[in-house]
Amino acid sequence: MSGRLDGRGAIVTGAGRGIGLAIAQRLKAEGARVAALDMDEAAARASGADLGLACDVSNSADLARCVKAAREAFGRLDIAVANAGTGRAEGDGSDEFYGAMAARNAELAEQGSSAIFVDQLIHMGDEGWAGVLGVNLNGTFYLAREFTRVLAVDGNPGSFIAISSTSAFSGEGSAHYCASKAAVVGLVRQLARELAPRGIRANAVAPGPTNTPIMAGIPDEWIKSMEASVPLGRMARPEEIAAAVAFLASDDASFVTGSVLTANGGSYMV
Ligand code: NAP
Repeated sequence: MSGRLDGRGAIVTGAGRGIGLAIAQRLKAEGARVAALDMDEAAARASGADLGLACDVSNSADLARCVKAAREAFGRLDIAVANAGTGRAEGDGSDEFYGAMAARNAELAEQGSSAIFVDQLIHMGDEGWAGVLGVNLNGTFYLAREFTRVLAVDGNPGSFIAISSTSAFSGEGSAHYCASKAAVVGLVRQLARELAPRGIRANAVAPGPTNTPIMAGIPDEWIKSMEASVPLGRMARPEEIAAAVAFLASDDASFVTGSVLTANGGSYMV
């Protein structure tokens, strides 16, 4: 690896597995010292990062504590990646949705037609909505704020990267997930303008379907139809999303801010 990130300090949330793990490993391979944050402390520690910390990104005090710890451990921070995300929360109607889908598919297979409605919205409670927004949107905002607070004191430039999704643009997925991922794009565009005078760049990466544990539980036939809709014919590997993040983190992207970099095999063109 080129050492593009030699000497930099980086934080990656949701780095215990999936895309976040691949990002943490890629940033480290390019020379950064990396703090991996995850709900699962053992997974964060096992990531191979320099620092593995338990953190719930939806809790601003918890996140602030971890950002401070990373700054203290590395002496500086240059890169923050808001990757932690979820598509489900308690009380969000997912169980009703998947139940209705299974019943509808069974009827279709048996009798060729079904009158069962498959929707989630009417079952989505306030708590379920807030649970997904709390991780995907609030967690991204909290990280951007704590990262900027550190850089405002230290005076160095930096790169903030949020993981959005093509769902932000395509509307494919549940209401809370799509709304949160679209909001992340709006947030990043605002941050790019506000933080430019400090030399802080802010960008989003929008993956399409990527082969990670978040896909567990999605019925096989959906996965197959998802893959069929991708011009490159497959899901992404987490490492392919990490490569896009590493570019935005590096000086190769020194004039890139406020952008959304899609990494989706052509499945949705923004
Ligand atoms: P994943 O396999 O489910 O991994 C997500 C990681 O985030 C897990 O380690 C999880 O830890 C952690 N996490 C969840 N809630 C957290 C919280 N409140 N605080 C801290 N960590 C938390 O997901 P992924 O597929 O790698 O997705 C990573 C990001 O890419 C997400 O933002 C996702 O929305 C986005 N994305 C994924 C895809 C895809 O197809 N995979 C497509 C587009 C965008 P625990 O398991 O311990 O909770």
